[in-house]
Amino acid sequence: MRPFSYERAADLPAAFAASQDAPTTALLAGGTTLLDLMKLDVAAPARLVDITGLAASTPALAEIRPASDGGVVIGALARMSAVAEHPLVADQYPVVSQALVKGASAQLRNMATIGGNLLQRTRCVYFRDVSIPECNKRVPGSGCAARLGVHRLSAVLGASPACIATHPSDLAVALVALQAVVHLAGSGGERRIAADAFFLLPGDHPERETALAPGEVITAVELPPLPVGARSHYLKVRDRESYEFALTSAAVAIHVADGLIAAAHIALGGVATKPWRSPEAERALIGNVPSRPLFKDASAAAVAGAAPLPHNAFKVPLARRTLERALATVTGLAEGEMP
Ligand code: SF4
Repeated sequence: MRPFSYERAADLPAAFAASQDAPTTALLAGGTTLLDLMKLDVAAPARLVDITGLAASTPALAEIRPASDGGVVIGALARMSAVAEHPLVADQYPVVSQALVKGASAQLRNMATIGGNLLQRTRCVYFRDVSIPECNKRVPGSGCAARLGVHRLSAVLGASPACIATHPSDLAVALVALQAVVHLAGSGGERRIAADAFFLLPGDHPERETALAPGEVITAVELPPLPVGARSHYLKVRDRESYEFALTSAAVAIHVADGLIAAAHIALGGVATKPWRSPEAERALIGNVPSRPLFKDASAAAVAGAAPLPHNAFKVPLARRTLERALATVTGLAEGEMP
């Protein structure tokens, strides 16, 4: 780890100024990703500006509160554990609570913030190993070691010739499925952006991962209201049951009215370069009677565009089955009961 200075941001404008100075300066919240990357020399800011104290002067930054339209607004500095346990979230959006609980150990959930969760970096082993020179995300233009190396955990959706790294956040998958909105603020004012648009595909610039502009910070995440009676669920499949990132995951929210699926919100995790919303699966579900054949067709539609490599081809059928099972769970159709 290289030497760095540490200070506390006095107010939001100080945080905006620090963000403008990235990567020389880095904002520190929970630190659960940043400090790891600094120890690995993947990140080497000369100055850390701690923003956790801003919640004292701007309480909304850490609050979880009802929105005027019936949804919920979560401050960016709220801790993962507080959000997962909050009744407004646990009761109305189980998919968010489950994604948070599955996303990190209890110790990490007590430290990590919602804003930081959305900005965590990929777990691609080549990105995290500075002894390997080829990584376009870490060193733009250097190549991609994963394409020719071990890519069992890499993406089968949304990849580009420049990068095949998966997005690591479980929470982000739930937010994209729910069509949540990310609140941003900077010296130029405030703006809001759909969670799906907040996360960028790698294209030719995998070093750019989000729509966050220099000088901006995330201030909140807004969950839109779900129809009364809608149910949601997050299913994560991984190599071991704790402290592990997803091989595949599915975030689903379904509203059934008069025996038909009236609304469907679907996103996949662990398989794509960004949290992967599937309008194809949503379209396949809406207007139909929940059933095993329907879930199979919708899940096939969700991965129809997959482009696997030799080591990660198993993710395509695994993602399909993960989504099928999540849909069966959320609609109350246990395996043996499905028509
Ligand atoms: Fe780097 Fe992306 Fe290639 Fe991994 S997949 S080595 S993060 S460029």
